[in-house]
Amino acid sequence: MVRYASEKPTHMATYSVSDAVATYYLYDQYVHLFIFSLCTLIPMGPEDVLRKGSGTLCEALLQVEAFKKNIVCPNKDVEPLTKFHNGHLLDAETYIGGHVECLETGVYRSDTPCKFDLTPSALQSLIDNVDRDLTFFIEVEKGIERSEITNYDEVRSEIVEKLELLRDNPVREEEPYIYHLDVGAMYPNIILTNRLQPHAVSNEATCACGYQGDNGCKRQMDWIWRGDYAPASKSEYERTRMQLTQHNERVDDKPFLDYDPKDQAAIVSKRVKQYCHKVYKKTKETKEEERTATVCMRENPFYVDTVRRFRDRRYNFKKMTKKWKGQAKKAEKEGKALDAKHAKDMTLVYDSLQVAHKCILNSFYGYVMRKGARWRSMEMAGIVTLTGAKLITQARELVEQIGRPLELDTDGIWCILPKSFPENFQFKTKDGGKEMIEYPCCMLNSDVHDRYTNHQYQTLDPKTGKVSLDEERSDELATRSLATKTTHNRTFIPPPSPTP
Ligand SMILES: [Zn+2]
Repeated sequence: MVRYASEKPTHMATYSVSDAVATYYLYDQYVHLFIFSLCTLIPMGPEDVLRKGSGTLCEALLQVEAFKKNIVCPNKDVEPLTKFHNGHLLDAETYIGGHVECLETGVYRSDTPCKFDLTPSALQSLIDNVDRDLTFFIEVEKGIERSEITNYDEVRSEIVEKLELLRDNPVREEEPYIYHLDVGAMYPNIILTNRLQPHAVSNEATCACGYQGDNGCKRQMDWIWRGDYAPASKSEYERTRMQLTQHNERVDDKPFLDYDPKDQAAIVSKRVKQYCHKVYKKTKETKEEERTATVCMRENPFYVDTVRRFRDRRYNFKKMTKKWKGQAKKAEKEGKALDAKHAKDMTLVYDSLQVAHKCILNSFYGYVMRKGARWRSMEMAGIVTLTGAKLITQARELVEQIGRPLELDTDGIWCILPKSFPENFQFKTKDGGKEMIEYPCCMLNSDVHDRYTNHQYQTLDPKTGKVSLDEERSDELATRSLATKTTHNRTFIPPPSPTP
């Protein structure tokens, strides 16, 4: 830099200026509005909001909500220094959940034919369920009475006809529809549907709400635990620990007992590892276990309420963004420059609010897993991811029979369906309205609705003190789950080999 400064000062200056300009625009585009939007949510100034992780931000937010509702905040979660699994020293534990899977690679274009080998029985069951699926779309998703639809039978028979053709000619080569089926805000919606809250999870016979006996509040949910533990037995662990304490052995020139308990535990753990390496020829054993946790459906809902309010506010901001975008276009067309500028600014403000909400909303799941969190529950994190993984796996099983899945991620599937698969239709209502229906979406949504509705959701009426089942909140997942996007071309690149 020094040489450049003396030999080519203009070059150097240009470089430096362009750097600053680029930084400014990056800031302007991605940071400025976002930070001030976050400041409207979190009780901190811009500097802190910028520096802190989204988990900390979540916690700040939850504390404010707890304070408002007169709820005592739990202390920060402290992990015990040593944990055991069936008498073995536990090294690490976590849960298993979402994953990404690449099923096929290559270039997929909507104008390049693909081979399909469909399963006739799957198409038959779609035919059998066509009324269930269409009624679900009309009544649950759109909230219209089925009798209001004037062309129901036409649409129905069109769909059935197409499905029958596919059923009778299952082996085919034709151009594909390329679909990305994804579950909108999957993790937050799993939390809401199942009323999952860190403080509502327990494993004991007594529920988190303190109620003994059967009042329907105990919801059993599965998750998969995974732990690494030492092959050495408990007595071998004790012996190792005793050696260090009894002789007060010097470790790195300092007597063992002079270390604080945390460091002592680390030293013992290291010793056990060395011991295992020598005696067992391996330092750890890994085990996966399916576990069931009890989630109370009556526990004070302040956590899910916070998540729900957040999600709904975001939907609102999304709507507002769309609205102002439309206004900006309109003003531009009419040549009203000032109005257009105002509308554009409003679009930016609402969009950044929307993004800030999305960011925090997605952190509510990760937060419960964070070390030292006030509302912490590994079980809950495990339940969320396992439920999501099951949902995606089931959708995949269906897609495998009616098309070809290409790639799975935590909350969606890329897939191809034959072009003769029923796609878009239009329902007409008596009052002259129209409702577009995407059949592949609707049939998956209806399926999710059937399997993932929580029939145990309970709500307390603060006025009467009575608890009742809350049908409306029992299926947040299904009502806005598999939103689809159609794209035309997509290349699937084999995943890179894992980095060491
Ligand atoms: Zn309970």
